[in-house]
Amino acid sequence: MNRQTTIAKEASVSGVGVHSGKPAQLTVRPAGEGTGVVFVRADVRDRAAEIPALVTKVTTTELGTNMSNEAGVSVATVEHFLAACAGLGIDNVVAELDGPELPILDGSSRPFVELLDRAGLKRQAATKRVLKILKPVEVRSGVKFARLSPGEGFTMNVVIDFATPAIGRQEINFKMQPGAFAREVAWARTFGFAHQAEQLHAMGKGLGASMDNTVVIADDRVMNPDGLQAPDEFVRHKLLDVIGDLFLAGGTIEGLYEAEQPGHALNNQLLRAVFADATSFAWM
Ligand SMILES: [Zn+2]
Repeated sequence: MNRQTTIAKEASVSGVGVHSGKPAQLTVRPAGEGTGVVFVRADVRDRAAEIPALVTKVTTTELGTNMSNEAGVSVATVEHFLAACAGLGIDNVVAELDGPELPILDGSSRPFVELLDRAGLKRQAATKRVLKILKPVEVRSGVKFARLSPGEGFTMNVVIDFATPAIGRQEINFKMQPGAFAREVAWARTFGFAHQAEQLHAMGKGLGASMDNTVVIADDRVMNPDGLQAPDEFVRHKLLDVIGDLFLAGGTIEGLYEAEQPGHALNNQLLRAVFADATSFAWM
């Protein structure tokens, strides 16, 4: 239960990046104890191509969590894959990518869960690294906040509040336990507003976005022909992003996460605030 876990064999999946619009193949491979999740850019030859999935490697958090290493080699939109790793309890894996951005696939973590299931899980001898929260740490930005407090296991409470009645106020409570992520969270897709698409395109972003990988809202309505998978798919996706972002701590969190209107930037600030105060956590 508390042993480190990797995958049993190699597996691959391909698709376009939601922002770059560029195709990429992701291949996951088994990794030794204590490796963590390490991205490797297979298309980079002249520089160090490894980027460990750690909070200190996060460079930008606009429209996704993006990381780079000291050589300036980057990997974009890592959060849905990392959420799948966290949700399945995977500690160690090499994630090789032949492009700048992870494939968006259907906009959720489900294809990554399927990828990792295909690869199979393999227990290792070493015990898991656990980041135990010892005192509350909070970050705020206007009405938004995110907080980690001491608690048993890893539990989360996330609230979102959007002006459009297509979303409104939604809240979810979640406890990380075997099977729960795949059942309750992994399938929730990313979402966006049609009126922002043009603005994104002008910035060279969102080039791979479509209704095949994004829940699109226009005129206070969900535009996707098949609608939502659940009325609260939005807050479930926000929770998915939180799980992916917090995985960058470098170990399983033991504590309570609470947030209103969280985003990648706030989650990153929260982890950095925890690590900035040595009395707020302990590695177990
Ligand atoms: Zn997301």
